[in-house]
This record gives sequence, C-alpha cells and structure tokens, in this order.
Amino acid sequence: MKRTRIIDAIKHYNEIGIGTDICVKGWVRTKRGNNAVAFIALNDGSIVHNLQIVADLANFDDEMMKKITTGSCLRVVGTLVESQGKGQVVEVQAKEIEVYGTADPESYPLQKKGHSMEFLREIGHLRPRTNYFGCVLRLRHAMAYAIHKYFNDRGFFYFHTPLITASDAEGAGEMFTVSTLDPNNLPKTPEGKVDYSKDFFGKHVSLTVSGQLEGELGALSLGNIYTFGPTFRAENSNTPRHLAEFWMIEPEVAFNDITDNMDLAEDFIKYLVQYALDHNMDDLQFLNDMFDKELIERMKFVISHDFVRLGYTEAIEILEKSGKKFDFPVKWGIDLQSEHERYLVENHFKKPVILTDYPKEIKAFYMKQNDDGKTVRAMDVLFPKIGEIIGGSEREENYDKLMQRVQELHIPEKDVWWYLETRKFGTAPHSGFGLGFERLLLFVTGMTNIRDVIPFPRTPLNAEF
Ligand code: ATP
Ligand code: MN
Repeated sequence: MKRTRIIDAIKHYNEIGIGTDICVKGWVRTKRGNNAVAFIALNDGSIVHNLQIVADLANFDDEMMKKITTGSCLRVVGTLVESQGKGQVVEVQAKEIEVYGTADPESYPLQKKGHSMEFLREIGHLRPRTNYFGCVLRLRHAMAYAIHKYFNDRGFFYFHTPLITASDAEGAGEMFTVSTLDPNNLPKTPEGKVDYSKDFFGKHVSLTVSGQLEGELGALSLGNIYTFGPTFRAENSNTPRHLAEFWMIEPEVAFNDITDNMDLAEDFIKYLVQYALDHNMDDLQFLNDMFDKELIERMKFVISHDFVRLGYTEAIEILEKSGKKFDFPVKWGIDLQSEHERYLVENHFKKPVILTDYPKEIKAFYMKQNDDGKTVRAMDVLFPKIGEIIGGSEREENYDKLMQRVQELHIPEKDVWWYLETRKFGTAPHSGFGLGFERLLLFVTGMTNIRDVIPFPRTPLNAEF
C-alpha cells in the first residue's frame, strides 16, 4: 500500500475519506495507554502535528508492542477514523504495525522532552527530529523557495557565482584558503613564503565571502540577477549572529539607484515574511506558543509599516542625544555596533530602519562616493532583535573614482583588474545588496541563536556533524 503523508491524513482527510484504510510511516513521539489500548503519537516530518495511532492490544503481539518506544520508527496500516478524544480531528485505528527500527529508551537522547537548545546542538545528528527543528527546517525550505519565486516572478535571473575565488579584495583576513598543497611539505619561494604557484590553481585562492563582485558582472549584462549560495567567513567572533558558513542572497540590478535598491530590499523582505505567514502558519503557531510569544505579532507589524529611512549622520545624533551609556562610545565615524543598531530599531523608532550614507572609511571600496567626499551610498537594513539583516549599496560606476579608492586602500590591481574593466567598457549605474539567509530565518522563527536555524552550523571549533 502506498504511503500517505501525515500532513495529508490530517489536512485532507475528507479527500482521502473517513473509513478508508491508509498506510503511514514515521517516528514515535510518545506512547501512552492502558491494559487494553495503546495511543501512539506518530510524526513523519511533513507537519508539526502528530497523527494518533490507536492500537487495541488484543490484536497485537506483546513483544512487538514493547519495541514501540519514543524514537522508534514504524509502518502502520489502519483505518482513518474520526477521533474520539480531543486534540485531534482524525486518528488511525491500527490493523497492522511493523517496527522498522527500535530506539532503546536507556540511550535514546530525545527520550525526554524539554531539552535546552545548547544540549540539542550537541546532538545535531538527531535534533531535526524535535518539533522545534522540524518547524525551523520547514520554514527554511519555504523561505528558500519563496526567494526563488520572488525573483523569478519579477524577471531576475539566478546567476551562479564561484565558491572558490582568487579575489580577496573584500574580506581580507577573514577568508579560508583552499589548497591541495601538503601542509607538512610546503613549497617555498626564495623569500621563504609559501609558493602558491605550485598549488592546484597556480595561485592563492579562498572560499568566497560574497558573490557580489561577480554578481555585478551578471547585472551589467543580464540586467537583473540574484545569487543564492553559501558564503564563508573565518571571523572568530563567536556571536549569536555569525556563522563561518552561511547562505546569502544577493540581488544586483543595472540602472537601479540607492532609492530603487531600498525599495527592492523592503518589498523583498516583506514578501518573504508574508509568504511564511501564508504558507507556514502551523509551524509559526507552534514556535509562537512554545518559544516566542510575540513572533507572529512582530512579523505582521513589519509587513504593515514602512521602514524608516535615515542617514548615518542623523542616526549618530540620535544616539548621542539618547543619554544612554553604550559599551562602545558613539561618535561620527564609528562602525555601528549591534547595541547601537538595536537601540535605533527597538527603542527609538520601534520599526525596521534603513540606514544610508555611511562614512567611506568603514565601508567597502566599491560603494558609490557622495559629493561630500566623506560618505558613500551604503544602505544597511536593521531589524528588531537582530540588528543588520541586509547590507548593500549603490556601486561606484565611475572608473577614475573607483580606481582612486582601490589605490588608497592598496588593493592589488592584479586581483581586481577584471572588475575595474566593467567601468571601462559600458559602465552603468547599478545597485545591489546581500541578505543573510540565516538572519532572515532568525526573524521568521523567533530563534535567538543563529546556530539553531541551520541544520549543521559551522562556527569556531565546531564542525562535528
Ligand atoms: P555584520 O556587521 O553583522 O558582521 P557584515 O557587515 O559583515 O555583517 P555584509 O558583508 O554586509 O555583513 O554581508 C551581508 C549580510 O550577510 C549581512 O547583512 C548579514 O545578514 C549576513 N552576514 C554577514 N556575516 C554573516 C555571518 N558571519 N553569519 C551569518 N550571516 C552573516
Ligand atoms: Mn554589512
């Protein structure tokens, strides 16, 4: 008999038909009962809810029934019936049960409920079986799908940028080297440095920190593109908002200025939040009830209000006048810390904020220079409970101005010559931004640690599973 997914049994029982025999397969969440009957809560990952299996003990072998414990895996054939008990609409009256795999209650780590998030991180191989992570992982899928749908519906092309890259212009010092050289027997140059000309690619290469520079090449030929792929940063920061391997979405659009860029960012995020509310309410309701009582309210709030748009200089004035003591003192020129960003969003405006026109010293070389000679056309989107969720800018399209920044910052021309050529041949105004996928997931799940919104987090000293 073909397997029925539990989501279909629960949501579409009318189409299946009450009284029909079905086959379901899944993992046991709990087993209760008495001398006559067992109630088994079965979950197959298709939905947060469990399907109740009712087994009359008279019809089943004692030894087999003993094997059914929390965590074991079953195949059940039985009749879909209206539930007698409360808490569920339908249940399955079992006719046949097969135990695929047992889970010894003495050693199964998820035998009991209510484990801490920290403990669950230590059992990354099993935590997808918890309700929390089921919800998070279904939302993660939904958001990935919605991202592709959003861009596809608007004529953007999915543009693949390389993961292995020779340009370390952007994130100097934060990159993971990729090499096939034998670390115990490294070829050396006459000056005693590692001779990467003997390496696989004949030069030093790393894992990418962003697909943007290559993404710009796509925008300056296809018009509207986006990337969506893994990025790698060897930042040893160990915060609840940073991973060493994370996913980033980077749209890049020819002819967009910074206002178009802000409009796109705001519309994009609101679309994604709305998509989650429209398609994942079961998961959101569970997370809201069990974990973060304001989750759904916060999501609806973000959709229904315009984001504040504010210059960096005004933001600094607000922070200075706030009278609040920050760990990092505020003055014009500082890179805003998460405490500053969150003060603006959570205390002052109580809304998402798009900050623009940052000092050029704290931003990347490719951002468009303003006429004041001090600031660049950067934009960061700041969100409640998270801080920066998006970073972007209008790009400097003027060859001479870009070249001047490259020289001021001592970026080796041999690394970025191809990027500079885009400004030599048919340059155009263009803009783009990067949305951290896991930061978005923090927002739509209510989770507070970024390690809990990706199946296998990579952080300093942590790459077990
Ligand atoms: P932050 O200041 O928070 O470290 P950033 O300014 O270094 O971020 P960008 O280079 O602007 O980040 O990258 C674009 C987006 O990628 C950020 O807005 C954020 O959402 C996400 N992001 C950046 N670094 C990380 C990381 N280590 N882990 C997860 N997401 C990240
Ligand atoms: Mn940034």
